[in-house]
Amino acid sequence: MKELDVKKILSEMTLEQKASMCSGADFWHTVAIDELGLPDIMVSDGPHGLRKQEEDVDHLGVAESIKAICFPTASAMACSFDRELLHTVGDALGEECIAEDIAVLLGPGINMKRSPICGRNFEYYSEDPYLAGELGTSFVNGVQSHNIGTSLKHFAANNQEWRRMSTSVLANERTLREIYLSAFENVVKNAKPWTIMCSYNRINGVYSCENEWLLNDVLRKEWGYDGLVMTDWGAMNKRVPSLKAGLDLEMPDSHGETDKQIVAAVKDGTLDESILDQTVLRILNLVNKYVSQKTCTRANYNKDAHHELARKTATESAVLLKNDGILPLASNQKIAIIGEFAKTPRIQGGGSSHINCYKVDSALDAFDAINQLPGEHICEGGTCRILPPLRYDISYAKGYTTQEDKTDEALLREAIDIATTADVAVIFAGLPDAFEGEGYDRTHIDMPKCQNHLIERICEVQKNVVIVLHNGSPIRMPWLDKVNAVLEMYLAGQASGSAAADLLTGRANPSGKLAETFPLKLEDNPSFLNFPGRRNEVEYSEGIFIGYRYYDKKKMDVLFPFGHGLSYTTFEYSNPSISINENITNISEKSDISDNLTANDTDTVSVSFDVTNTGSVSGKEIVQLYIKNFIGMENRPEKELRDFAKIALLPNETKRITFTLNYRSFAYFNETAKDWFVESGTYHILVGASSRNIRLDIPISIAGTKRLPFHADDVTTCEDVELFAKKPELLNELLDKSEFDMNTNLSEDENVDVGTVELMKSMFSGTPLHSILSFSGEKLTYDDIQNTIKKLNEAE
Ligand code: BGC
Repeated sequence: MKELDVKKILSEMTLEQKASMCSGADFWHTVAIDELGLPDIMVSDGPHGLRKQEEDVDHLGVAESIKAICFPTASAMACSFDRELLHTVGDALGEECIAEDIAVLLGPGINMKRSPICGRNFEYYSEDPYLAGELGTSFVNGVQSHNIGTSLKHFAANNQEWRRMSTSVLANERTLREIYLSAFENVVKNAKPWTIMCSYNRINGVYSCENEWLLNDVLRKEWGYDGLVMTDWGAMNKRVPSLKAGLDLEMPDSHGETDKQIVAAVKDGTLDESILDQTVLRILNLVNKYVSQKTCTRANYNKDAHHELARKTATESAVLLKNDGILPLASNQKIAIIGEFAKTPRIQGGGSSHINCYKVDSALDAFDAINQLPGEHICEGGTCRILPPLRYDISYAKGYTTQEDKTDEALLREAIDIATTADVAVIFAGLPDAFEGEGYDRTHIDMPKCQNHLIERICEVQKNVVIVLHNGSPIRMPWLDKVNAVLEMYLAGQASGSAAADLLTGRANPSGKLAETFPLKLEDNPSFLNFPGRRNEVEYSEGIFIGYRYYDKKKMDVLFPFGHGLSYTTFEYSNPSISINENITNISEKSDISDNLTANDTDTVSVSFDVTNTGSVSGKEIVQLYIKNFIGMENRPEKELRDFAKIALLPNETKRITFTLNYRSFAYFNETAKDWFVESGTYHILVGASSRNIRLDIPISIAGTKRLPFHADDVTTCEDVELFAKKPELLNELLDKSEFDMNTNLSEDENVDVGTVELMKSMFSGTPLHSILSFSGEKLTYDDIQNTIKKLNEAE
């Protein structure tokens, strides 16, 4: 179709037509205006599949949708730590949108997992903003490579389902910037999503959809976003203020109600028509972007190929949490497969992301299929061999039901019977639909009691027990010490069953790592005392310390740490080197290099190291780079993820990895400067296999090059002057005149004990300028101090 002349269309529109464009035509379409030659476009959910509803939709938008591919949910996909894979999934979804004439896919959801009990966590990637931002960027770039738009959601701080449409998130700016906005910033800057979906909730009292600071100041002015902002479905509160704040499209339709408010506001002068024009232009640009590139004939897509991609994604995302060597399952054994989820896997969560699956693999069928396969031909590192075919003697028992949390004695008996006579019991367990979903939060992190009971009973009769989990978010594992292995599949999409069977049998090697911490108990979570808040407010009093940032800082034990995941092979990290502006230093693990490595925060710092597959099978390692923060004036997390890579290695193969750091790698958000800021001090570059399995630790002294804004007044302390003033010597000049002289070297005076020296030092640093008067031995006047304050400010 040819380009629309959007400026001309806008100029020909009546005020009423312009207002009508600002909300949907129905649940999924924008408004078309035939007489102006303006077509509509359709948008559809969602993050891990296409939920396109046919024309006769119900008014809630929850009815059946067309058949499509259900890819693993975000919580699963994130564990792949694989940017390329996320791009490929996005790419496949883009193709599906073309085939179904969908202009905008409503996803990805990149909200932070503040608490493990947010009902919608399965739709989100991580507790870490860097990981969520990187994966979101890849996904959006994948979808949009087909000229299909995405809607990055839910902007912002939508981290619970309880009262999601009214609650106000109370958080300081640093917390918002570092944790709740930074993934959005990454995607906006690096993938330019066509649209952004504004969240239901309020932030510090103001609805996201009418939040001038969020939409106009941060998103548009600071991050340079020029796309469209739409509401989440039904999130509109006050139409005219939201328009002024930068919210373009209200979804779904408003039955003309809010259009009338826009018209009235322009007529009575409370809304400048140019603001409306800007909004309508953004809507027209979105329509044009899609229709001008649209091909006349709808392409078809290969559903089976996409199913295979769903299988690959599920395989790459599963996390082997524990393995005492029982996995992979040796061939020619009697395997008791237990659990409803082995036959009917739970593959996705309920709500707006629910896909009507094209087909679903079960693990049970997948084992049957593996039993039919001939031996595999493997070629690795130049040598080829044929592996003997895998053969398992499979029996199955349902074990429990997901309909209610009640032990069914007959089902339990049947499961115990087959487990007793088998070599290994593999139990497929997890959370039923009712335990987690959109619209409500969990109240605990337990699996159904009947499933925990089943596992305990099976462990009594069988010493080889493997657990395969289907859940969208962390659970407690009271039986962990009794079982031999745990494979976390999460909600792994329609090919979950075949992926699980491939991993259990060793046809595939597990390579996922956790994108969130599994706490020992819910009460350990930093948001526990403030989740989900009271009435319509929730205080984020834990600040930036969510997920591993909190558990690490408090040195707490966890069930499984962020970034953890096992493999059937092993990896060694060696030969680190650091390059600062291309000057390379090799780092021998023993030498003390902290004094040698110094860089400015603006320098290009790269760290390189070798990773070797030291086991006997091929595998993939996810290497993670954290910065251990310098703790100066600001409270910083113990460490923060700043880069990662997933590398495939044949047995004995070595690859060299290089990560390049940047200013933001060392920075925190300073609320006074309203900017990212690096404090001078010693940081550590940590490279590891998980957040708690650090293999390389390289200290580096970083010099900050930016100055914080400084303004002296009576309560400014001597330390503030020393650290932040442009001319700290002005304070020394003042002190020289007084008897308050901290430069006297007390520690050299043997009559003064160490405690007194420390006391005096801290007294000095903490003394506000106005108090110097009291300690000056009458050598200073009030005016002397005020003069120094004045001079300090003039020097800035
Ligand atoms: C959800 C969104 C979804 C929209 C349309 C809302 O309830 O929060 O994520 O895209 O519905 O289905």
